[in-house]
Amino acid sequence: PVTCMFQARISQRRGYATPAEERDLVIIGGGVTCIEKRGALGGTCLNVGCIPSKSLLNNSHLYHQILHDTKNRGIDVGEVKLNLANMMKAKDTSVNSLTKGIEFLFKKNNVEYIKGTAAFADEYTVAVNLVDGGETSVRGKNIFIATGSESTPFPGLTIDEKKVITSTGAIALEKVPKKMVVIGGGIIGLEMGSVWCRLGADVTVVEFLGQIGGPGMDAEISKNIKKTLEKQGMKFKLNTKVVKGDDSAEIVKLDVEAAKGGKPETLEADVVLVAIGRRPYTAGLGFENIGLETDNKGRLIIDSEYRTKLPHIRVIGDCTFGPMLAHKAEEEAVAAVEFLTKNYGHVNYNAIPSVMYTHPEVAWVGQNEAELKEAGVKYKVGTFPFSANSRAKTNQDSDGMVKFLADAETDRILGVHIVGPNAGEMIAEGTLALEYGASTEDIGRTSHAHPTLAEAFKEAAMATYGKAIHY
Ligand code: NAD
Repeated sequence: PVTCMFQARISQRRGYATPAEERDLVIIGGGVTCIEKRGALGGTCLNVGCIPSKSLLNNSHLYHQILHDTKNRGIDVGEVKLNLANMMKAKDTSVNSLTKGIEFLFKKNNVEYIKGTAAFADEYTVAVNLVDGGETSVRGKNIFIATGSESTPFPGLTIDEKKVITSTGAIALEKVPKKMVVIGGGIIGLEMGSVWCRLGADVTVVEFLGQIGGPGMDAEISKNIKKTLEKQGMKFKLNTKVVKGDDSAEIVKLDVEAAKGGKPETLEADVVLVAIGRRPYTAGLGFENIGLETDNKGRLIIDSEYRTKLPHIRVIGDCTFGPMLAHKAEEEAVAAVEFLTKNYGHVNYNAIPSVMYTHPEVAWVGQNEAELKEAGVKYKVGTFPFSANSRAKTNQDSDGMVKFLADAETDRILGVHIVGPNAGEMIAEGTLALEYGASTEDIGRTSHAHPTLAEAFKEAAMATYGKAIHY
């Protein structure tokens, strides 16, 4: 049997392994695969990350649209009121049903589930502090660590998840802040900033770099989404660094200055969202008992088969290398189990899509222009704007574009970048193309249903090797 031991609070009355009984595989960690100390399965993504934020993004978008975008569609609405408590309830209902779904899948697949906090007692033994009190321990021939990540704190600011919040507080505020300052214009900053901006907060995003979107987003796409988010009311201070925070009074004060030296300024906010990245979470795992090593960013060091220097201990997800994405961890989990059981496994790190769920969405896969330039690759570019796509026009939702980057000689697709409605769904086609080594001509010669947004994808591909028809 497989034992999944989340650092979680879980009842012991389920016929767990008796102390130190040996199992074929023990998994410690949350994320998409296992272990959780909050008493519900699904890790950060399902409980306080991807899933609750998407519920709020969807419903805040609907609210914003009903407020501002119905008249020109021939829909007259009466008084529109926000019921934040019910919006939060809808989010919780979605999260709860999904966590229960995982519990059901565990049972169906005979995965044992221990609620407690795990730590290595020795190389093969994991001691667990049970949530409901008491202790147990499990021996594993093989052990996976999938403990994920946590928000990087901002020095000088104390996270109370009310006034100074991380993404966890940002999905649970009880009232709409008047003034919100977001430190960090990466994915979390822009998604959660969008939610509260749509619900009425005055939102300013302070970003150290010259562009928003975090690492990986193509500069042209980043500029494009910034303009659209500004139209929605979000404010940006780029090339600006938060140097100091003071949260001793009700209003939080942030000292900011231009990244390259410049006039300092103090920003005030009733809520500050700290979104400056996440760091691996491996605290309390008892590494001192087994000598596992982390690098200078706290990531567990592994080989290409996800093995630590103790080969029966493997690591997947946010607590090791690569982008901190749930679907990346999922691929790694499958590959690591395959390495264990079949001696082969595969993750194509060049074909892991990224999606930012603002409106419009931003999605990309493969390399961006800056990366190709740096690598000295000769490439060609093809773009197509949604303003020339019939479906986007009829939906009255036509901000954005599709952009292909392909090898100048072979036409092989190197990167796909989309800002536009449903970009997050559309990127699946780009990911498949990249995985299969397709050329832009392969896409351009494939029939795409009319009228769909996906035609913009086809036409951008056509623009890369030839010419788009409708632009
Ligand atoms: P991020 O790394 O995407 O962005 C952090 C931003 O903060 C960077 O742009 C950085 O330049 C800026 N920054 C750092 N210090 C600063 C300072 N002192 N002043 C101003 N700006 C500063 O990190 P995030 O947005 O916190 O997200 C964390 C992780 O979670 C990322 O790996 C992200 O991909 C992942 N995530 C993904 C999704 C999604 O896939 N939709 C959603 C949420 C989070």
